[in-house]
Amino acid sequence: MNVGFIGLGAMGLPMAKRVVGAGLKTYTTFHRRREPADELRALGAEIKPTPRDVATAADVIITILPADSELREAVFSPQGILAGFSAGKVLVEMTSGTAMAMQEVHQAIRGLGGQVLDAPVSGGTTAAAQGTLTIMVAGEAALLERCRPLLETVGTRIVHVGEVGHGKVVKMVNQALAAIHLLAIGEAFALGVKCGVDPATLYDVIKTSSGYSKMMDLRLPGFLLEGSFQPGFKLELMKKDVSLAVESARVLGIPLLMLSNVAQIFAAASAAGKGGEDFAAAAQFLATLSGVALNQTKDHA
Ligand code: NDP
Repeated sequence: MNVGFIGLGAMGLPMAKRVVGAGLKTYTTFHRRREPADELRALGAEIKPTPRDVATAADVIITILPADSELREAVFSPQGILAGFSAGKVLVEMTSGTAMAMQEVHQAIRGLGGQVLDAPVSGGTTAAAQGTLTIMVAGEAALLERCRPLLETVGTRIVHVGEVGHGKVVKMVNQALAAIHLLAIGEAFALGVKCGVDPATLYDVIKTSSGYSKMMDLRLPGFLLEGSFQPGFKLELMKKDVSLAVESARVLGIPLLMLSNVAQIFAAASAAGKGGEDFAAAAQFLATLSGVALNQTKDHA
């Protein structure tokens, strides 16, 4: 199986390294920055000039791009994947985007006799490097089985969640919860710190109490408790994930009372210049409104 890998960012590069490391012939390309592609080439991958050339060379093309607009560009532009696609090829689409964009891409690929797996991931950059991602796979079950050995190079929990589009939905729901849990930590911990309790003490007790969420383990040590916001998962990307959930609810005509507020907080943190920081910065941004730094006990002005 020849693999094409498009999107060598915080997630894509470590994932692509694992694909190359598994001994699969891998083609890649680059967008603005060439360095990640060169890094992959040093491990044995071949660089092609455009996504179209990657699609021409590969049997299975993996994409993991920021969001819908980048996916559409990588697929539909004149130098895009579709221009190099032909019957029998497979697209494994791992971006956190909307079901709507996924369906557009699916239709176009099907029109050329190709197949699609809609397969977003969860677990972050560490799991990407270790090959322990959770992958929510939607599409034909038989196609998933055919691609399972490839998916197993990057993930350990590979779950079939339904038809194409449902992968994006499951990921959207996960992101909605992750964003709410993160900001809940920011707000509640700010209250505790303002009342004089050390944030590390709060974490120590709450990790075995009913207020616990996995987000505490993911974003208190190494981020909030250290005041360190090196991404990780960029705030801008979580803002995008929350916005697409809010937009989906608008289209469906249903309310998202909590998530609408969460979207506003991410928008405010982004407008304050924190978009390139890890998304944990949104929790600190919220705590700062109360004059609290979550990496220390005393108030900061
Ligand atoms: P990054 O912003 O780090 O990387 C995006 C990559 O896509 C870059 O290599 C960029 O290249 C490339 N790219 C952008 N536009 C195009 C294009 N039109 N054609 C080809 N390549 C393009 O994002 P992440 O890797 O962090 O995230 C990727 C996806 O995975 C997102 O949907 C995100 O929500 C999701 N995700 C992220 C996680 C994380 O912890 N980071 C965890 C789970 C999911 P260049 O920089 O050269 O423009």
